[in-house]
Amino acid sequence: MDSQWDPEVWSLGCCQGKRRDNRRAMSSKLKAVFGTYALVLESTCRVTITVGALGTVQVLPGFYVYIGSAFGPGGLRGRLLNHLRKRNSPHWHIDYLRVLTMPAEAWISTEPTRREHDWALALAESPAVSTPISRFGASDCRCPSHLFYLGRSWSRSSCGRLLVSIGASSLECVSGLAGWEMSLP
Ligand SMILES: [Zn+2]
Repeated sequence: MDSQWDPEVWSLGCCQGKRRDNRRAMSSKLKAVFGTYALVLESTCRVTITVGALGTVQVLPGFYVYIGSAFGPGGLRGRLLNHLRKRNSPHWHIDYLRVLTMPAEAWISTEPTRREHDWALALAESPAVSTPISRFGASDCRCPSHLFYLGRSWSRSSCGRLLVSIGASSLECVSGLAGWEMSLP
């Protein structure tokens, strides 16, 4: 069903459009890797929604980043595809936000160690982002949240630099997600 899903994948050094020749090789690599990811979502609305047990929360216009990891069957590719599909019946916290937002890009780290909680804890301390919804995506851990607000301005390279600043390594950027969302069944 998703055999045509072939997103652009960039290493951090490719963010300025250089070394495009590496794109195809890295795209193939995504099919078989596990790791930690940061999914960037764009909201164009200001709306109040109810998110499961979290209750009523406000969604602002601007960019959000959601932190997760994928070490099970399907790996990062399967998980990102899951996030790209909008669910009619939301289950996870992120599903509620996805129906209101457009996916912009995902940063993935292929470090063999699960880093999602490290990243979430570090971002919660970062002055570059805010934590608008406490406990979002963090029902099963002690992190303040796994969702952060980047503000209204954002760029691919700035998000990459933010992740590097909190210690993320082996980073690659999966771009062009909005187009893939439109093509999924
Ligand atoms: Zn956590």
